[in-house]
Amino acid sequence: MVTVDHPHRPALLAVFAHPDDEAFGTAGALLRCADRGVAVHVLCATRGDAGQIADPALATPETLAAVREGELREACRLLGFAEPTLLDYGDGRLAAADPEELAGRVAAAIRTLRPRMVVTFDANGGYGHLDHIAIHRATLAAVAAAADRGPGADGAPAVGHRPDKLYATAYPRSALARMNADLVGHGFPALDFGDVQGIAAAEIGTRDERITTAVPVADLWLRRWAALRAHRTQYGPGNPFVELPEEVVRTWMAVDSFVRLEPPPAPGATLPDEDDLWAGLPLPG
Ligand SMILES: [Zn+2]
Repeated sequence: MVTVDHPHRPALLAVFAHPDDEAFGTAGALLRCADRGVAVHVLCATRGDAGQIADPALATPETLAAVREGELREACRLLGFAEPTLLDYGDGRLAAADPEELAGRVAAAIRTLRPRMVVTFDANGGYGHLDHIAIHRATLAAVAAAADRGPGADGAPAVGHRPDKLYATAYPRSALARMNADLVGHGFPALDFGDVQGIAAAEIGTRDERITTAVPVADLWLRRWAALRAHRTQYGPGNPFVELPEEVVRTWMAVDSFVRLEPPPAPGATLPDEDDLWAGLPLPG
């Protein structure tokens, strides 16, 4: 159950599948909003219980969910976000969850927080991750459901709410190609999500022409890097984000990209058509 701890501030709701999803390709743009006084809320469907354990001193398979919940809470604190809300769906099993129940819980959060903006994954989950695809679908269904008046689930108000904007996170294919070149150039294997999730390599990421919103965030590097590293169980020795020279990793985190689903870009518009998620929305006075 989400709580409204900043009723006077406009809210942004980011809906993800795992602790650390918020930190990778999105944290800079969300941090920019938080710095301007927007209350940034993260709703995370799982507690990441199937994730890695980079150092056995940090967690066991039995404690990993609780440890990763703590890591997400620390990352959100470092980024100046509101206290995150974690649902307790099984990591890696979100696609098997009851889609109506999952969408209902997201819709309840939307009715409670009444965010001006909702952010979630793109339809392909970024790189085909089935949990990411499931939360994308649930979030789109939730945005539609929350706009209707109806019985409030989980104690949420029985009053409809429609966010002004809906965004999907995006990893532009050009950026993934540059990242692959950097990885190979430093002796790491290229990204191979296609084999992992059974999708063609060419289908990973987002076609550059679809990017509506490219947010320059290089100046926020140190703070988002700290938040990423707060996910200690996921970013240990051997991880390219840890091993590669800082100047390389910084280039990977210089721009956060999104596809604006609502309102969609005008027909024929030159994209990207904005450089800020909050463009066009009022900031707190
Ligand atoms: Zn994830």
